[in-house]
Amino acid sequence: LKVVALAGGTGSAKLLLGLHRLPIDLTVVANVGDNFWTYGVYVCPDIDITIYTLAGLADRSKGWGIAGDTFEVLSQISRLGAETWFRLGDRDMALCLLRTELMREGDTLTGATERARRALRVDCPVLPVTDDPVETRLVTSRGDTHLQEFWVRDGGRPRVFSIRYKGAKGARLSARVASALADADRIVVCPANPVTSIGPILAIPGLSAILAGSSARVVALSPMQGSAPFSGPARKLMRAMGSRPDSVGVARLYSRFLDGVIISDSDSAMRERIEKLGVHCITTDTRMKGPEDEQRLSKVLLEV
Ligand code: GDP
Repeated sequence: LKVVALAGGTGSAKLLLGLHRLPIDLTVVANVGDNFWTYGVYVCPDIDITIYTLAGLADRSKGWGIAGDTFEVLSQISRLGAETWFRLGDRDMALCLLRTELMREGDTLTGATERARRALRVDCPVLPVTDDPVETRLVTSRGDTHLQEFWVRDGGRPRVFSIRYKGAKGARLSARVASALADADRIVVCPANPVTSIGPILAIPGLSAILAGSSARVVALSPMQGSAPFSGPARKLMRAMGSRPDSVGVARLYSRFLDGVIISDSDSAMRERIEKLGVHCITTDTRMKGPEDEQRLSKVLLEV
């Protein structure tokens, strides 16, 4: 079974671990909207957390970076008087340095990612949705900021007025992503922030139409429970976009292409509204507390 998973960061990584343990042919399509330049290197948080998680290296208690990493480079950068609000460990920095070097030599983000995932023995492709730069930017009460500035530097506190995916309109869908989607038997939308993780993927011209026209079933695991996400700023950002911050809102955002969705059993009252959108809805315990939940929910997603 060829399964393509559209993924963001930490929430997605948990489900990817479950999918990865099943006997399927898995390809991950990664968000690039949270990529940004800092300390002279190109940081790709969602791509890297995917690779670290599948390689068994991730710091799962923090939800980012490599377990046991040190922060010597960052300490020295701080001593030199620069701001260090974006935490980047030494080993984490090594991948960013290599990626920056490869891309300066003319390699694509896809090529640099492929090299890293193979070196770290991740046995499934991790494909950036595009090789063109796309940035999730927010107009907030602290000005026009990159998503990382809003979430990491400003702690997600500023008011958010609008969201845009800078560069997305002119970005080209990666050829490898297009071919993986064309061959897919099933497409899974991971539990991820619909605005900052899945939104930038869907903003790449042509992608939504491919999903809508695909003969593969497109299924999602909702990242919401009640009117909030399990973690992260989805509530605030969905509201800023004029969406309901719950599983109905998520199903509505994806309804153009979504065939089925798994939502929390505590939200069973939302089921009827979701089915009215033409989306088959299943209710179960959607919290992933460990490998058993990750695998159980992965299996349900392949059966919906
Ligand atoms: P990040 O925001 O960049 O860290 O990455 P993601 O967008 O991939 O992950 C955050 C999303 O995953 C949030 O919207 C969470 O609600 C969701 N999430 C986190 N843990 C769980 C879980 O155990 N179950 C489900 N269904 N969603 C989760």
